[in-house]
Amino acid sequence: MTDKVRTRFAPSPTGEPHIGNAHSALFGWLFARHNHGVFILRIEDTDVERKVEGSVEKILEGLRYLGMDWDEGPEVGGNYGPYFQSDRLDLYHKYARELVESGHAYHCYCTEERLEAMRAEQTSRKLPPGYDRRCRNLTPEQGETEERKGIKPVVRFKVPLYGQTRFHDEIWGNISFENNTIDDLILLKTDGFPTYHLANVVDDHFMEVTHVLRAEEWLSSTPRHILIYNALGWTPPLFAHLPMLIGPDRSKLGKRHGATSVLEYREQGYLPEAMVNFLALLGWSLDDKTEIMTREELIRYFTLERVSKTAAVFNHEKLKWMNGVYIRKLTPEDFAQRCLPFLKKAFPDIALPNDYVRRVLPLVQERAKILFEVPGLTRYFFTDKLDYDANLLIGKGMTAETTRQALLVAKERLEKLPAFDEQSLEALLRPLTEELGIKAGQLFGALRTAVSGETATPPLFQMMAVLGRERCLERIGDAIQRLSSLPGK
Ligand code: GLU
Repeated sequence: MTDKVRTRFAPSPTGEPHIGNAHSALFGWLFARHNHGVFILRIEDTDVERKVEGSVEKILEGLRYLGMDWDEGPEVGGNYGPYFQSDRLDLYHKYARELVESGHAYHCYCTEERLEAMRAEQTSRKLPPGYDRRCRNLTPEQGETEERKGIKPVVRFKVPLYGQTRFHDEIWGNISFENNTIDDLILLKTDGFPTYHLANVVDDHFMEVTHVLRAEEWLSSTPRHILIYNALGWTPPLFAHLPMLIGPDRSKLGKRHGATSVLEYREQGYLPEAMVNFLALLGWSLDDKTEIMTREELIRYFTLERVSKTAAVFNHEKLKWMNGVYIRKLTPEDFAQRCLPFLKKAFPDIALPNDYVRRVLPLVQERAKILFEVPGLTRYFFTDKLDYDANLLIGKGMTAETTRQALLVAKERLEKLPAFDEQSLEALLRPLTEELGIKAGQLFGALRTAVSGETATPPLFQMMAVLGRERCLERIGDAIQRLSSLPGK
């Protein structure tokens, strides 16, 4: 037996990796890293019908995005492989056989039609659903008769009819289930694949998993697992069932609460460090108040004692806020690097010269909450065509004509300004408002809209300096044109 902590993330490749998966993975990963243990990735691909092509790659991508590295599993291998359950079928068959031989499991020949009829009957008589155990006590001769009919059996576990199954959960404490509420679950299906229950137990045992951290929804499966461990004479690992994730309306987290796929968060430009920090605080806290923690701090402080049972609310607003905090903490160069893919995607046909991009981006670093917003916030730095309503040029107390006049004068002066930098622009334009007898806001507002087409932008002089003289003059000229052709002018 290993004395190292070994945890695993055991996703089923049935679609996009969702936030709940990432949450379980993160807690398992943090626990392993905190204890200098091993984090295993195991692909539970035994449900052939629910398998979705390409989802394994997406799961790996999700983990890579969040920076959760695995020590054993797909791509990296390890001494306890294979790490795909579909490559371990012989092992499951062996233990299903052993359970049958030791009297802990049996072959069940009930056809789908019979089971359906049984279920209908149970529903009509308001009985709890579950297998009626018809095949539990078949004699070997009866079994042979069924075999001769050509019926392929499933293997079912013989759940004790009385008593309780107890276990200790590191988060929920002592748990006890009445055995008479547990169905004779299937271990091996007719297609030769094991069910989740059998494969999960066999693998956790042979992969020497010491701690199973998984979502609360699996808590009710655990007594079945304990029964299987006991029947096989194996010591179960320790269990820690993580609190459920819910939306602000307190229902189980789902599509109606917003994006559920981890990769969607990447597309939207959530930084992995913000995601990891945010997810870690769903059901765990250091001291109920510290919110911003680096990956290293999370690893250092993560313990199961501080994991709560209370369902954790996934609050998008808070995630967005946290992402903004992390964006502001990036160095300008790092911010630029992370924004580039978003700019390239939004402006595929526009050249993005390195030094220009690096002058533009710091202007919006304070304001961006997610990287996906960055192209929208910086559009006018890259595209030549501005699309805005000319009335936006006209400030309070101004008319189209007074605005036009002000812009004409400003344009003329800007043409002659020796250096087109922030200080020179300010030194020119502030006094100009007095000279024109208008308020600073009136001139600056008109210039802002003229050069950007927007009413909210980074500081005007900085923005103009980055845009450069040529672009500014051209745009101011265009604004003057627009004002001249306003109806009623
Ligand atoms: N394959 C299960 C899942 O998709 C694993 C649950 C567990 O961790 O035991 O979540």
